[in-house]
Amino acid sequence: MNVINLMSDTQTKPTSGMRRAIAEADVGDEQSGLDPTVNRLCARVADMLGYEDALFAPSGTMCNQIGILVHCAAGDEVICDASSHIVNTEGAGAAALAGVAIRSVETRTGLFTAEDVRHLVRPRTRTGPRSRLVVPEQTANFLGGRVWSLAKLSEVAAAARDCGLASHLDGARLFNATVATGSTPYDFCAGAGFDSAWIDLSKGLGCPVGAVLCGSRDFIEEAWRWKYRLGGAMRQAGMLAAAGLYALDMHVDRLAEDHERARAIAERLAEDNGYVVDPTQVETNIVILDTSGLGVDATLFASRCREEGMLLSVIGEARLRLITHLDISDDDAVRAVEIIRKVSDMPARSPREGEDNVHERYI
Ligand SMILES: *Cc1c(COP(=O)(O)O)cnc(C)c1O
Repeated sequence: MNVINLMSDTQTKPTSGMRRAIAEADVGDEQSGLDPTVNRLCARVADMLGYEDALFAPSGTMCNQIGILVHCAAGDEVICDASSHIVNTEGAGAAALAGVAIRSVETRTGLFTAEDVRHLVRPRTRTGPRSRLVVPEQTANFLGGRVWSLAKLSEVAAAARDCGLASHLDGARLFNATVATGSTPYDFCAGAGFDSAWIDLSKGLGCPVGAVLCGSRDFIEEAWRWKYRLGGAMRQAGMLAAAGLYALDMHVDRLAEDHERARAIAERLAEDNGYVVDPTQVETNIVILDTSGLGVDATLFASRCREEGMLLSVIGEARLRLITHLDISDDDAVRAVEIIRKVSDMPARSPREGEDNVHERYI
């Protein structure tokens, strides 16, 4: 039986249609601006998000790091949620690459407010760090794929602007938010007032590689210098961009199916295991399981699931994350619930000495 891989929406394999698009891509030297497919992808995403220009990057992490490097100088401070990707899973790149400090706010949802921004902005003094940039995530990943409403997101960008700060939207799962709400990519990005924004192609869109960072012409000019320095300039990258163009045509609307399956998993689990999962918090493709009520830590729970043929991510001592995606069918969702129920009924015990956790590495 096939393994049900719910660790992340990064776990998808390119479909045959996508592989055909890759094989047939018209290509050139990306670094010289001569790859027609990369240029088409960048123009399309810049237009969708409402910006003058865009660049193609190998990863969303590089888009965040370039955003920080362009908007900030060493000694500046970035404001974001404590659960955010730039705080937890970018190797402290803000500090290591940009010399930038992070001032984060703890929320239950990953969605901070304009008031939080005003509260966290420091007064201009000779002694304090200089507040410089605000970075929300649409959707907020580690607290369950929660969606910012257009009003809340716009208020945060406006608060940044009013305080003299720049704003950068981490849109790793932007399309999950547009599909869930009916707002457009433009609404959440340039429309909401963000100075820069990016989308990931390798999450729910199902591409093997790639992200697109957007901003003003000047911003992208500077961003290119960092992309080059960081080793992000490519050659015949049209092979990758073709996958992105294909995904924008074929894999955006279908995200609604991922959301339905995530919701169905959460609702079925809540029927008899309400203490494990809260379906009212499942707004997109991410389900958080809390194992604390079972007396089993998350690592052991994940190991037991793996033995039953299902992979998920450990994101805390008693927290697990499931993400539905392109390669998860209705049948997989049904089986996932059966496995979780079975594992929830197993007796509590501590993890064996040396019991490994491959899951953690894939967050
Ligand atoms: C995955 C992710 C990133 C980084 O994207 P990669 O393409 O994996 O480098 C950044 N922010 C959020 C919210 C993410 O989920």
